[in-house]
Amino acid sequence: MAISSRNLHLLRSSLRVRPIGTRGFASHSSEPISFSVPPEFKTRSPPYPALLTRLEEVRQILNRPLTLAEKILYSHVVDVEEAFAGKNDHIRGETYLKLNPDRVAMQDASAQMALLQFMTCGMDSTAVPASIHCDHLIVGHEGAKQDLQASIAVNKEVFDFLHSCALKYGIQFWGPGSGIIHQIVLENFSVPGLMMLGTDSHTPNAGGLGAIAIGVGGADAVDALTGTPWELKAPRILGVKLTGQLNGWSAPKDVITHLAGKLTVRGGTGYIVEYFGDGVQTLSCTGMATICNMGAEVGATTSTFPYTDSMKRYLMATRRGPIADAASAVNNLHGYLRADIGAEYDQVIEINLSELEPHINGPFTPDLSTPLSQFGEAVQKNGWPSKLSAGLIGSCTNSSYQDMSRVASIVRQAKEKGIKPKVPFFITPGSEQIRATIENDGFTDIFLDAGAKVLANACGPCIGQWARDDETAGKSNAILTSFNRNFRARNDGNPATMNFLTSPEIVTAMIYSGDMAFNPLKDKLIDANGNEYLLEPPQGDELPPSGFQQGDLEYLPAIDPMPVTTAEVVVSPTSDRLALLEPFEPFERKELKMNVLLKVKGKCTTDHISAAGAWLKYKGHLENISNNTLIGAMNGETGEVNKAYDFDGAGYGIPELMIKWKSEGRPWTVLAEHNYGEGSAREHAALSPRFLGGRMILCKSFARIHETNLKKQGILPLTFANEDDYDLVKGCATIETLDLLQMLNNPDAGSGVITLKVTNQDGTEHVIETKHTMSKDQIEFFKAGSAINYIGNLRRQRQGLEQQT
Ligand code: SF4
Repeated sequence: MAISSRNLHLLRSSLRVRPIGTRGFASHSSEPISFSVPPEFKTRSPPYPALLTRLEEVRQILNRPLTLAEKILYSHVVDVEEAFAGKNDHIRGETYLKLNPDRVAMQDASAQMALLQFMTCGMDSTAVPASIHCDHLIVGHEGAKQDLQASIAVNKEVFDFLHSCALKYGIQFWGPGSGIIHQIVLENFSVPGLMMLGTDSHTPNAGGLGAIAIGVGGADAVDALTGTPWELKAPRILGVKLTGQLNGWSAPKDVITHLAGKLTVRGGTGYIVEYFGDGVQTLSCTGMATICNMGAEVGATTSTFPYTDSMKRYLMATRRGPIADAASAVNNLHGYLRADIGAEYDQVIEINLSELEPHINGPFTPDLSTPLSQFGEAVQKNGWPSKLSAGLIGSCTNSSYQDMSRVASIVRQAKEKGIKPKVPFFITPGSEQIRATIENDGFTDIFLDAGAKVLANACGPCIGQWARDDETAGKSNAILTSFNRNFRARNDGNPATMNFLTSPEIVTAMIYSGDMAFNPLKDKLIDANGNEYLLEPPQGDELPPSGFQQGDLEYLPAIDPMPVTTAEVVVSPTSDRLALLEPFEPFERKELKMNVLLKVKGKCTTDHISAAGAWLKYKGHLENISNNTLIGAMNGETGEVNKAYDFDGAGYGIPELMIKWKSEGRPWTVLAEHNYGEGSAREHAALSPRFLGGRMILCKSFARIHETNLKKQGILPLTFANEDDYDLVKGCATIETLDLLQMLNNPDAGSGVITLKVTNQDGTEHVIETKHTMSKDQIEFFKAGSAINYIGNLRRQRQGLEQQT
């Protein structure tokens, strides 16, 4: 087909491919001197001049004060005119933005599928700087050295695959033992004003250093990796005003555990949480990262903080002085890294840090928040175990130098009193830098002397990679962790383990009591001589007085690795860990007709849809990992877990029935309740249902990342217009869309109604209305069969056009 040069231009601009060879942030050659950084910092410093120019264009159109989050996000919009002109007050919560993120980070479990998808696009290099982090596949058991060796041996094939992809496409490779994705990002890449995507739901951790960092699925990451604009509905802005100053036992963790209790796991959905107020200036940079990290638990798109002196100190301490200078200049001269005076938030919550007491959240959900002073009573009232069985601190959040030094001050006090922890105590340093620094400063010896086990610099128990041998599987018990998420079975795979989240300081105090009702603010411990004593509140340093140690330098990748196009990415055809991807079938352009395979009842997180733990090893093998699909979900009609019923009443495991219906050519749908897919940015929770024949998910509401992931994989996500209609539909019912084609042909879509005809097995019929949020691009993904198919089609068209011209 002959294509005009104008069409070629349109096609190019719709793809906005960053030319290979100029990978990285925008050129700094014409920058004012105050924004310039030495060459070795260029790929780690946002293109401030270009961002300021675009922000000025945004201001011209919107003509109103902007919040910090709006400034950073809107200055990364690809086409300001297209995004904002004529929209006036209809931006937040309504307008889809096409964005050019500056950077991508991927953890080993999700990177496999992201890279397998990226490979199908046929590029020689990533369009933006990117990094891979080997952290999720390391099991915590004996201790760092042994666990690392064992996990490398078991996962060698996957690590080799990731390493070869990194080499071929010019991606930074942070190998096993180097640390956890978000801690390494904070130490190396997060910068005020940066916009980045990460294939992990706790990517917002980088907001502690003033970035807009968003957790996404691998297919979204491929947008950024290929230079294709990434689409996001402009979030609403939730302002959290902090006043006062933390003191005593209260810690940054308490800001977010308290906020989670107020907002619930759905309260932040569709929002960016933006902190402001005098209290912000009193927080450490790593403390703010902790707060942003766990903002994922309220469903927020991300969280961020304005530029502070503590951010500057942290940038300097992590050997990024020139970037700190550039950020200070851009903020002092243009106010880019703070909200405008008079900027309006959609909602404001105020927290007085001076009055904030420690909180403990859980079990099984991060928003069940109890102030420490009421926790003992809650333990009794709810029949939670009265004894603690283990305490765990660290992970990607709460493993900062400040956290560790405050914990060490408690352990030191206990040692002086001659007492040891009453339960096993585990410490997970977030990175090799943290490990080396706490070792250098004597904290590791203090912890080991107390009998603690220091695990590898990796996720370990936080993601179910905990080879726990102190408790019998299935036995009810309580653990306290300073992690960020506590869904059932998340840590040790035991659904009877009640997992509570709190600050590392409170975890540490509690292990010396072993009593779940212990309150270190008022309850006394007994020293080695039988005398009672009260622990002093923890003390610590924000940053290491003698500087951060880099540790094993072999972990450090090249700062800006160049692609080696001749490098080979080898995937064995007989591997059970990795398999190349086959594209999904494109949409057949006729109304959908499918059957209800399952009605899910209650909480259904991505852990329920695509379990982690032992299944993590199959992340790169879609067929194998799909055998875990929805095995944690409860059948709403029978109350059974992992049970679905065929037309003849025969019962199957949920994935077994999916496989059976797929082999019979029977498309299916799943019905669910609220916040379906909350939790991790796990795209397998969308990929596996699609692979096994799912065409639609119909629920009362979705978690943001999961809804996007479904759209990216060609599954239609719909919500009930009337929630009570959930009760009208029965298992095995036939559902037909009545006006899907009309919606797909509507170029102005973005939201609307789709009507379904439901025919239950008993012959009862209902016509119900559902709602969709498919944008114009997402409609194209659906038609193409998936977002990756769509990007691949565009690239092939572009290459064809370039050959013609
Ligand atoms: Fe790893 Fe846990 Fe952090 Fe996720 S939340 S990156 S699993 S440490």
